[in-house]
Amino acid sequence: MRIVQKYGGTSVGTIEKIKNIAESLVEQKKQGRELVVVVSAMGKTTDALLAKAGSITSKPNKRELDRLLSVGEQETIALLTMALNEFGVGAISLTGYQAGIETTGIHTKSKIKSIDSKKVEKYLAEGKIVIVAGFQGINEAGDITTLGRGGSDTSAVALAASLNCECEIYTDVDGIYGVDPRAYSKAKKIDEISYEEMMEMSSLGAGVMEVRAVELGKKYGVPIYVGRTLSDKRGTMIVERNLDMEEKVITGLGITDNIILTTLKSLENTPENISDIFEALGEAGVNIDMISQTLVEGGGLNLSFTCPDNELNLLEEALDRIRRELGEVQVEEHNHFTKISLVGIGMMSHPGVAGKVFKVFAREGIRFYQVTTSEISISYAIDPKDKERAVHALAEAFNL
Ligand code: ADP
Ligand code: ASP
Ligand code: MG
Repeated sequence: MRIVQKYGGTSVGTIEKIKNIAESLVEQKKQGRELVVVVSAMGKTTDALLAKAGSITSKPNKRELDRLLSVGEQETIALLTMALNEFGVGAISLTGYQAGIETTGIHTKSKIKSIDSKKVEKYLAEGKIVIVAGFQGINEAGDITTLGRGGSDTSAVALAASLNCECEIYTDVDGIYGVDPRAYSKAKKIDEISYEEMMEMSSLGAGVMEVRAVELGKKYGVPIYVGRTLSDKRGTMIVERNLDMEEKVITGLGITDNIILTTLKSLENTPENISDIFEALGEAGVNIDMISQTLVEGGGLNLSFTCPDNELNLLEEALDRIRRELGEVQVEEHNHFTKISLVGIGMMSHPGVAGKVFKVFAREGIRFYQVTTSEISISYAIDPKDKERAVHALAEAFNL
């Protein structure tokens, strides 16, 4: 059986761990598996590389940054291949480029455009274990690119799609939980989750899977397994939704820290104003998330939205432009908030989730500042000091 496996940063964090993975791969090979193995950079290597760039300049050239960041994964592929060779097993390491991963889009956030898997197929046919550097590819200009943080998941699922096989993501937790087990130790493991819910959870703070990896899995029908490295404990399958799943109203809770809530007050309520505001925000590159508006007495409008706090500079730039274009706009002080989101496809058929959350918040005395919903999620901006209480109370209320 052919399979793509991915081992994350913590799982390949030491030489000892790399050797142990090699040993397991040898065993799997003996059982007749055709293996393509995608690996991340060892431990916190990518952070360390970023910090090195940061010690030279606050605005590194993105092409050069990609060259630097792609180094981490190359260390791991070489070491893992050497470890396999030591066991007397044929293996070969390939960079993203050598594995035929072609990307498009801007440096440091490139997207996989296509994969030419001829080379991988050739080495598999020769009976080799193929070790591929995650998180990287090559663009139209022939330059090395990276896929955004956590991008090795995407490399693995994309390779599985092009090789027409399943994908196993091995990490430092037993699978996908209703809540990040680091934030709520009593969280329950999920046996099976739909692509839609996992996409929503990933984009709402559950960093265990990169959102684009799940998107690709859905698009190409790649079954994805998420489990702990070198553990027999059953993990989580990400699959097409099925009827059993809809019985559970809420599947998971996502936490996004460090968001800024901005309110523009008493705006003149015209479509042009609103459109100018969002144009300015869009052109500055601010990732706007939760949006709401309220009418104020006398016909004016208050407009609120959130964005990540590492975009404060971009936000300020956009607000300056808005002030220039619309005249003096009253901006309410930015506050730092945490976003708590509940996700579940069952929400489509079971009303009353919001009501239950409001009740929990009332009982716990938790204030929220913004609410938004999608078809399968509902998100609340709350004060970070209330985060732990909110997570615990909601996890208990929804049995997560
Ligand atoms: P890797 O380096 O293997 O890619 P990541 O750090 O990217 O690992 O992802 C694993 C981490 O995701 C876990 O250690 C866990 O704290 C975090 N996480 C966040 N939300 C969840 C969740 N709902 N279920 C499981 N893990 C989660
Ligand atoms: N090494 C990269 C990162 O730390 C990619 C990955 O681990 O998925 O973001
Ligand atoms: Mg990851």
